[in-house]
Amino acid sequence: MSGTVLAGTPIAVDFWSLRRAAGARLFFLSHMHADHTVGLSSTWSRPLYCSPITARLLHSRLRVPTCWIRPLEVGQSHVLDEVTVTLLDSNHCPGSVMFLFEGTFGTILYTGTGQGPTVTESQDGRDHSGSSGCPTPRGAEL
Ligand SMILES: [Zn+2]
Repeated sequence: MSGTVLAGTPIAVDFWSLRRAAGARLFFLSHMHADHTVGLSSTWSRPLYCSPITARLLHSRLRVPTCWIRPLEVGQSHVLDEVTVTLLDSNHCPGSVMFLFEGTFGTILYTGTGQGPTVTESQDGRDHSGSSGCPTPRGAEL
């Protein structure tokens, strides 16, 4: 199992053992690979947040009841209780996302793929190099 409960938060990601995630209230699934869904089945009975594509797969493959599946739009911020979560495409497999959590605990990026956040740079990073964003000279021309 590769999931985790984020210490000091009500958040569990890819972690489906309710006995061991006693303090968790918000459950997130990053993507549908088998090692991330250990323990998920038709008997799951908590709200579960994931991308719309993962939501479909979750129901068709693992028979998780749709009443517990809460699809969240990718690329947008969602407020769930005291936690704000933003889903970011992780380009790992269909429906895979990273989770950016913000709250009183601070900001936590959960990549889910074990590859670190560098995977986001393959998306459109090239267009930004040198051309846009902050100008490089820092007052040198004054
Ligand atoms: Zn995977």
